[in-house]
Amino acid sequence: MASALMPTYRPAGTAFSSGAGASLFDAEGREWIDLLSGLGVTVLGHSHPRWVAAVQEQAAHLVHTSNLYPQAPAEEVAERLCDLTGMDSVFFSNSGTEAVECALKLARKAAGQRRPQAPTHFLAIEGSFHGRSLGSLSVTSNPGYRIPFAPTLKAHFVERDSLRDLEQAFAQGSPAALIVEPIQGEGGLHVLEGSFLRRARELCDQTGTVLISDEVQCGLGRSGPFLAYAEAGVLPDVVTLAKPLAGGLSVGATLACADLSSTFQPGDHGSTFGGGPLVMTAARVVLDELTHGGLLEELTPKAEYLTAGLDDLVGRHDAATERRGRHWMQGLVLPGQAVAAQQGLADRGFLAGTAAGDVLRFLPPYVLTHEQLERALAALDETLTALPQPQALPSIP
Ligand SMILES: *Cc1c(COP(=O)(O)O)cnc(C)c1O
Repeated sequence: MASALMPTYRPAGTAFSSGAGASLFDAEGREWIDLLSGLGVTVLGHSHPRWVAAVQEQAAHLVHTSNLYPQAPAEEVAERLCDLTGMDSVFFSNSGTEAVECALKLARKAAGQRRPQAPTHFLAIEGSFHGRSLGSLSVTSNPGYRIPFAPTLKAHFVERDSLRDLEQAFAQGSPAALIVEPIQGEGGLHVLEGSFLRRARELCDQTGTVLISDEVQCGLGRSGPFLAYAEAGVLPDVVTLAKPLAGGLSVGATLACADLSSTFQPGDHGSTFGGGPLVMTAARVVLDELTHGGLLEELTPKAEYLTAGLDDLVGRHDAATERRGRHWMQGLVLPGQAVAAQQGLADRGFLAGTAAGDVLRFLPPYVLTHEQLERALAALDETLTALPQPQALPSIP
């Protein structure tokens, strides 16, 4: 039967009916270990008892009143995010793309206030992914995603890690904002070099350009530090967060430094649903578990084990040419074989993703146990062994 859903996705494989921790189950009770967290979202795993209890209790009390009225849970989560990141204020929305839209609008308004002939264009990085709405799509580099919807906002894409290209782009006229994923997710798990992130900070300082770090995928400790950009020893002006922030409920957050905190005035931006009590209660549990609950601390030895395990596989399998990513956000480059490896892992009961065609992508839930991780690496070893060998060149008689 034809689906009534628009054909934007190609869902394949199993329809899951329940989950617990890092496990997902189908209707027959068959189990898979989740190494993708629904694209980096369910960091506390599935059916986390404290998360479920808090959401159930909040749902029974109050779900929505709108931002016409004070939102106590949002106030609290915003304060905690600022404490954890060094930022100064937060706008809550409902998705990653909305968090980016807010950042781009904030940068445009700041540019107008800071400079007489305000620039309107943006700089982004080749390989970037920032979302699907028209603003965030404008700074997304993949032409296949962007070109069918042209004209988008004016954006120029700088070669990844090229200081020369970055400097040239600024020399041609500084932008309203430079937007960067410190670790590119969709683009193939590329970790941007610290020297590039620091030079970006300097150029933005010199020109009054807003530096946006899109940490929708790599933030909240997934790549090591709470903020991925902080690994470079400097901070951006604006940070976007989303995927894992509420552990599975829809959320976006745009964080601004003190200088930009009063850029938006009443009426400049808004969201009907953003920052409502249900999703903010969920976010509070996530932040609790990550910090006081010790989840971020427990991640470090597991992430080291994952990194070493993947490096070992690259050393032993010709199909794997490179490990990419950092900490709990990793990719294995398997030219021409990433989808086959993803399928091989699924057949063995483990769910991974792909990125940029050739990269097998791992964004495990933070609650994955050491024992589950060991089993996952063993299954990956088996999967790589079973991949069809690259065709030998035909011998010439
Ligand atoms: C997923 C993603 C987005 C878009 O998030 P949505 O919630 O799908 O709109 C934006 N930026 C980055 C870095 C992402 O990984």
